[in-house]
Amino acid sequence: MDRDRTCRSLSLAIPCYNEASNLDALLARCIANLDVLGLRWEILLIDDGSRDSTALQLAHWAAREPRVRALLLSRNFGKEAALSAGLDAARGETVVLMDADLQHEPELIATMLQRWQAGADVVYARRKDRRDEPRFKRVFTHLFYRLLNATHPRVKIPPDAGDFRLLDRHVVDALKSLPEHNRFMKGMYAWVGFRAEELPYTPRARASGQSHYNLHSLLSLSLSGMTAFTTWPLRAASVIGVNLALLAFGYGGYLVLDYWLFGAEVSGWTTIVVSTMLFSGVQLLSLGILGEYIARIYEEVKGRPLYIVSRRLGQGLPAETPTPD
Ligand code: UDP
Ligand code: MG
Repeated sequence: MDRDRTCRSLSLAIPCYNEASNLDALLARCIANLDVLGLRWEILLIDDGSRDSTALQLAHWAAREPRVRALLLSRNFGKEAALSAGLDAARGETVVLMDADLQHEPELIATMLQRWQAGADVVYARRKDRRDEPRFKRVFTHLFYRLLNATHPRVKIPPDAGDFRLLDRHVVDALKSLPEHNRFMKGMYAWVGFRAEELPYTPRARASGQSHYNLHSLLSLSLSGMTAFTTWPLRAASVIGVNLALLAFGYGGYLVLDYWLFGAEVSGWTTIVVSTMLFSGVQLLSLGILGEYIARIYEEVKGRPLYIVSRRLGQGLPAETPTPD
């Protein structure tokens, strides 16, 4: 039997990095949208070590609106860590994750909640198209998800779905139980499972400021995702190695026969140079792949906390977390 789906409390968790210019508009709109839902709510803002006046503004908001709560992280830990901080601190029976730049419209929260009431455990916003993005980014994203989903038949990470989503308390607890430091959230949402439904949406333009992700940070996030959720690059390195070795044996045999039958012939300069370069290239590539995985293992075994909270402001929902059966 499914449990009672009357939502009593909702936490809206928003990571903020240098978003001072968006906060007033964001909070006014969120509050207006949450007030009509007829439940207890809190807005939890995670300041990810901003260098502008974000922290100051959060302090003002937390002082004048008791349902607004803020966590100030001790430095910039990255969006994935800020989201984890939000999930750890959220007290609601359902938790909505959202960006601070109003690309995610708070108006959608009501629809997400309806889907949750109808039985979904996760309702994620999935962008209808990527026509607003440059062509190279679309091609890269498409390729990335193809490679990411290539060898994991049981866990499918939906492309075009981001962090804008509503999570049931069970899902939040499941995510909190994953101990890894390399937190590729899009993969983790898929990994924990539960009943997930998509909600098509068109992201708006950033209200003010600029995206924090450039080509370099997107590549680095993709690499984290790859190493966190696949091991096929390691196998690919062995398969390429085995095939090249077989090829080399074959060619070596041919050269020996050639020498026996037709005598010494001083040639083969091109072969030597090309094969040396090819083999060193493949070796370095394999070492690089190995290195990526070892670096992640190193990060994991250090066992450092994902983030450090320097201050907590405001009240939000009461501390006792509701425990749905
Ligand atoms: N963000 C964060 N820490 C970071 C970078 C970004 O908390 O190091 C937050 C940012 O304030 C925003 C959200 O993550 O609320 C998404 O960031 P952004 O809009 O720059 O990304 P995009 O929409 O371009 O993917
Ligand atoms: Mg954005």
